[in-house]
Amino acid sequence: MYYEPLTFEGQKQIREDDRWIKKRLRLDADPEKSAVIICDMWNTHWCKGAAARVDELAAPVEKFTSYMRRNGFLIVHCPSNTMAYYADNPARKRALQASPQEADPRLLDWCPLDPEREDPLPFDDSDGGCFCKERCTYSRPYYGEHEGITIDPDRDIIVDDRLAYDYFRTHGIDTVFYCGVHANICVPGRPFGIRQMVRQGIRCILVRDLIDVMYNPEMPPYMDHFDAVDAMSGHLERFWCCSTTTADIMGGFPFRFREDYRLF
Ligand SMILES: [Zn+2]
Repeated sequence: MYYEPLTFEGQKQIREDDRWIKKRLRLDADPEKSAVIICDMWNTHWCKGAAARVDELAAPVEKFTSYMRRNGFLIVHCPSNTMAYYADNPARKRALQASPQEADPRLLDWCPLDPEREDPLPFDDSDGGCFCKERCTYSRPYYGEHEGITIDPDRDIIVDDRLAYDYFRTHGIDTVFYCGVHANICVPGRPFGIRQMVRQGIRCILVRDLIDVMYNPEMPPYMDHFDAVDAMSGHLERFWCCSTTTADIMGGFPFRFREDYRLF
């Protein structure tokens, strides 16, 4: 089956003198060589507020990944720490068939903020980011991906570690779109995340209207939660990768959370 290359607009930020300039880009992606990673869209979360936003995000993620699958892209489900739940799923078994690959620099199990390459995060997330009226306590209550997201057992893969990289190299995949949560922690930091893949020469594209962050507006710099989401995609655009939106790819409007009361 032949699939047309996808052409769409995106953006990145470049340094000009002492300020950052947004630069619009014409991008293309060959479905044969591209994948979409769905990061940590678990069926629940230790923070009830974060879990409610994932519930909301699941529908547009499903719409986007269905569109991309129909257009020939590989869909990669990455609900970390739940692989046992998928042991018998053909999409998990397919991932496990990837051949181990050489990697330089060596692959890390976690890729923290890299002060050599990037500024500090645009906000303080050191309290964990819960801003529920009654504060939530950390736990791991999830056991799989959100049930609103379809896993196609005949075409998708399920991974949560370096196997993503092995699979990409085994199958000649050099471009990866990222959606899911959370853009300040797991999307860049996981072993399948943006920092790792950029260092290995994989082109990463953040789908910036399909992300969320863990940030409590009572922490510095006391910004709106959804301003923090935008600030985080700006950070990634400056130091790591370009971004796009579902609207740039599929038309229509970018996704917005119900509680995002900001004006356009
Ligand atoms: Zn909470």
